[in-house]
This record gives sequence, structure tokens and C-alpha cells, in this order.
Amino acid sequence: MSEQEKQPDIIIIGGGPAGLSAAQYAARAGLSAHVFEEMAPGGQVLVVDELENYPGFEEPISGFDLADKFTKQAERFGAVIHFGTVDAVNHNGDGSFTVVTTDGTYTVPVVIMSTGAKRRELGVPGEKEYQGKGVSYCATCDGPFFKGKRILVVGGGDSACGESLFLSKLSSDIVIVHRKDRFRAQRSIAGMVEHDEHIDTRFLHTVNEIKGDGKRVTSVSLHDIEHDRDYEEPFDAVFVFIGADPRTKLVSYAETDEAGYLVTNGLMGTNVPGLYAVGDVRNTPFRQIVTAASDGAIAAHASAEYIDELKGQAYV
Ligand code: NDP
Repeated sequence: MSEQEKQPDIIIIGGGPAGLSAAQYAARAGLSAHVFEEMAPGGQVLVVDELENYPGFEEPISGFDLADKFTKQAERFGAVIHFGTVDAVNHNGDGSFTVVTTDGTYTVPVVIMSTGAKRRELGVPGEKEYQGKGVSYCATCDGPFFKGKRILVVGGGDSACGESLFLSKLSSDIVIVHRKDRFRAQRSIAGMVEHDEHIDTRFLHTVNEIKGDGKRVTSVSLHDIEHDRDYEEPFDAVFVFIGADPRTKLVSYAETDEAGYLVTNGLMGTNVPGLYAVGDVRNTPFRQIVTAASDGAIAAHASAEYIDELKGQAYV
């Protein structure tokens, strides 16, 4: 077998639901699909305690279990999952891509970006100092350490609301602060937070500073926007869920929107032929596991047609 024949058809960067779904559909269509994931396959889903809205599961399923099912299903159809980092995606003059990874260099006709987004930090004094000492970005990972303690949650989206509901099972003393006068989260989740007797919802509030005794968080200085006043309250933990920034650096030559997300068409294609984007990294109006999985299926289908077209051209 020549070196050329050993090259995969598709490299998928990122092993969350979008990437694993793309891998499953591509492999099932007979393409050689290789996924690169630098952490464990599953991506952000891994830290979700209970998913109750993924279709087909009558009872809630943990993010970990769902990620495991995505992974095993993709592998069953022949997708190859690498534990490794992608360092560069060079777009070559002949339209192919050379993908430089910690597990080899590959030249492929199609790359699917499923790199997701990196969580944001508040950027206030004390945040970095107390990371791992009370400041957290993952309720499932760190929530159990603060059972029965006083917890502050920051943010107003689905993550902040969903994770507050998880934390409210561990503590009856949760405060959630959001800078706007209403949640951005889906109405169903936002309503549950506002009616949860363990959660004190404070709109029009921001965090000034996270304070501690050097070893752990002890209090937080808050700003009440409506009354333009600062005040300090004791807290044992601060959970920050204020969104994420798309990871697009590897393909800085592809078009992004004003918020930095990769712009895609209905087939998940970017403005660069052969380069597709799926899941949280693309400019989608609704970021859910189910929409990410759908993106992956569409991109794999479109990639297969694109590769067929290339093969057809080669024989003309
Ligand atoms: P979002 O971007 O949806 O929300 C971020 C929230 O943080 C917003 O309310 C925003 O405020 C606030 N915020 C941003 N920056 C700051 C800051 N510097 N200081 C204070 N507050 C800030 O992020 P999420 O992580 O909640 O969700 C990401 C995506 O994942 C969304 O599309 C969401 O729908 C999806 N998701 C779906 C889930 C599900 O279906 N179960 C679960 C979790 C996430 P403002 O409103 O003012 O912009």
C-alpha cells in the first residue's frame, strides 16, 4: 500500500458530539475518517450531569454515558479516534489540506472543524488566584466539594441556569447573579431556576472581586447595577458560566462572523472548499447536542459528495 493510499479521506478535529457524529456518518458511508481529540472524546458534554433533552432517551442520561455511546458507535463503523493535538491545518495550492498533529502529518481532501469553544473567564481580581480553591467552571466536577455550602453562580445562559439546578441538589444556599434583567437561557430552564427555593436570583448584578484567605474563597464583592452600589457577601465557591469563545485559530484563513464563529452554508461548508465546520465553532443559532450531532451528519454527507466529485474530476 502506498503512502498516498494510507491517508484518511477526512480529518475531524475535535471529538465532541458534532465531530463524533460526523465520524460515524462518514465511516458508515465507507470513508476513512480520523478524529483528533486532545482530551477525552465527548468534549463539553462530559461535564454535564444529566441530559434530559437529547431525543430518544426517555429518562435523563449523563453526559459521560452519552459521550461513550457516541464514541463506541463511531468506532463500530470504523472511525479512528486519535488522542492527540492538531498543531496546523495548511491549505495547499491543489485544494488539499496538510494536517500536522502530534500523531503524524496527513494530507487529506476534507477537514471538518468540530473544535467547539473555550470557556470564558470573568477577568476579575481573585478569579485566577482561587481557581481550584473555590472558583470553578464545572459543577459536575467540583459541585460535590461544596455540598451544603454557600455557592455563587455567575451567568445567564443555559449553562448557568442548568448548572444552578444541579448545584441546588447539593446546597440550599445558591445565589445566581446575571448582568441583565432577564436570563438568556431557554424559558423552561430559566423558569425552573427562578422558582427553585434553593436559588436566590439576582438580576442586574456583576462580580467586582473574589476574595479569600489565601487557601480558599471566603467572600465575593458584588455590584448592584440598578442601585449603583457595591456590597460584599460570604461565599464558599464561585461557579462561572459566562459562555465560550470559538476555537478557530487553526483555520484563520476561513471566514468568520463578527463574533468569531466560522461562517457555514446549509451543508456546513465554509468559504474554503473541503473545509467544513460543525457544532459550537460555527455560526449556528441554537447550540445543543442534538444540533451538533445533526451538523456532523450533514457535514459527513456533504464531504462524501465532495470527495466523489473530486474523484470524478480525477478520471476526466
Ligand atoms: P451563553 O453564551 O449562551 O451565555 C453566556 C451568559 O453569560 C450570558 O447570559 C451572558 O450575558 C453572560 N456573560 C457573558 N460574558 C459575561 C461577563 N464577562 N460577565 C458576566 N456575564 C457574562 O453561554 P452558555 O455557556 O450558557 O451556553 C453556550 C451554548 O450552549 C448556548 O448556545 C446554549 O444554548 C448551549 N447550552 C445548551 C444546554 C442545553 O440545552 N441543556 C446546556 C448548556 C448550554 P448576556 O446575556 O448579557 O450576554
